[in-house]
Amino acid sequence: MSTKTNEHFSEDTIWYDYDSSGSITEKKIPWVLQNIPEDTSSILDIGCGNGIITNELSKSFKTTGADMSDAALKQVNCPTINCSSESIPVESESFDMVFSSQLLEHLNNEQLEASVKEFKRIASRYILITVPHKEFLKFCETKCPKCNAVFNTNGHYQSFDLLRIKELFSDDFELIKHSLGGSLHQQYNPFLMDIRQNLGNRYYNPVKYTMCPNCKNDDFPLVKGNLISKICNGLNRIVSPRANYWILTLFERRNHDNT
Ligand SMILES: [Zn+2]
Repeated sequence: MSTKTNEHFSEDTIWYDYDSSGSITEKKIPWVLQNIPEDTSSILDIGCGNGIITNELSKSFKTTGADMSDAALKQVNCPTINCSSESIPVESESFDMVFSSQLLEHLNNEQLEASVKEFKRIASRYILITVPHKEFLKFCETKCPKCNAVFNTNGHYQSFDLLRIKELFSDDFELIKHSLGGSLHQQYNPFLMDIRQNLGNRYYNPVKYTMCPNCKNDDFPLVKGNLISKICNGLNRIVSPRANYWILTLFERRNHDNT
């Protein structure tokens, strides 16, 4: 699948209302802070965005933020590097911890593999990752009215559970902590989603900065519900459980020499 850059990420304004729900400030930041081991002093925050978490980390740790958006990095209060997560210009094992929040789900398979390799190369001791938990990628699929491409509105290409994250890192690192957090949200039954999309032609409503990765159209009319989609949603509320939206995992480098 292609992952053309969403050019809206280079605009200043997209980063101003980044945490409009307040869930990052109220839930994510305290959760991340309480999972950072005491012997951590330096942190590289990869995919730091506008520094909403980075700036908090920098109050207690020697923190550097890395991201591909200059517009986002302008709001980060600590040293920054403009780079892709696939190739980060810092020395091996040069930070106690590599931290990354809500980045890996945006990468295609190749980008994911290269980025994970960089995380392992750079972290001298810990890797702390948060990503959406068991995200059903079809839920946020929108259909482009211009080219009919169907794509995830949030630009998410990967879905993770504990096993999958563990597999990515556990050759060199050992999982030492994990937890679920964030708001509870209703999951969606895949069978009902197929009916909703294919028979009901009901896709997810675009968000403010949605851009079609195929034709770059960013003009999306609001999609309204219909009888089929309402029936699917009603049945789904009965059959699907609610689940926490985020998973956090903490890894430690194997055979770390404590001396
Ligand atoms: Zn399109």
